[in-house]
Amino acid sequence: MGRFQPPHYGHFEVIRWILDNGFVDELIIVIGSAQESHTLKDPFTAGERFEMLMLGLKELNISYDRIIIVPVQDIAMNHVWVRYLEMLLPRFEVVFSRNPLVVRLFKEYGYKVVEPPPFSRSEYSATRIRELMLRGDDAWRMYVPRSIAEFIDKIKGVERLRVLSTRD
Ligand code: NAD
Repeated sequence: MGRFQPPHYGHFEVIRWILDNGFVDELIIVIGSAQESHTLKDPFTAGERFEMLMLGLKELNISYDRIIIVPVQDIAMNHVWVRYLEMLLPRFEVVFSRNPLVVRLFKEYGYKVVEPPPFSRSEYSATRIRELMLRGDDAWRMYVPRSIAEFIDKIKGVERLRVLSTRD
C-alpha cells in the first residue's frame, strides 16, 4: 500500500524484501489516493505512478509475474476503508505497510500486518524527493531508478511541481 509520489529506491527495496523473503506467493501493489494529482503532496496521476512502478521493476530486474498493480481512490471514511479494499482487490492475507494509520486500520480488522524495515528512510523518502525537486536540486535523481528520472523529465514533472508551488 502506498501513494508512490514518486516511486523511489525505498519502495523497490521493500518490494524486493517482501518477494525475496518468501512472505507471499503474489503481491498486490495498491496505488492509493488514485484520484489525486497536480498537488504538492500528490503531483503525479495514478497512471503516471503505475508507469513509473513498471519502469522501476523492469530496471531493477524485479520479476513482475507475481505482482499485480491496482490503483484505488481514497474514501472519506477510514473506518470502512478496509472493507472497501476487500471489495476491490483479489483476496489477500498479509498487509505490508509502515504507515501508522494503514497499520492500525488493518489490525483493527484482524489482518496480519508486517512492517518492513526502514531502508535509508531519511534519504529514500518521497517527501524529501519532492522537496529537492521544488528547490531545483538535481540530487533527487539519486533516489529513483534512472528510467523513472527520465520519465519525470519527459512529463516535465519537476516543472509541474514548481508551478503548483507558485501563487497568482
Ligand atoms: P508512501 O508512498 O508514502 O509509502 C508507501 C509505503 O512504503 C509505506 O508503508 C512507507 O512506510 C513505505 N516506505 C517508504 N519509504 C520507505 C523506506 N525508505 N524504507 C521502508 N519503507 C518505506 O504511501 P502512504 O502514504 O503510506 O500510502 C498510504 C495510502 O493509503 C495513501 O494513498 C492513503 O490515502 C491511503 N489510505 C486511504 C484511506 C481512505 O481512503 N480512507 C485510509 C488510510 C490510508
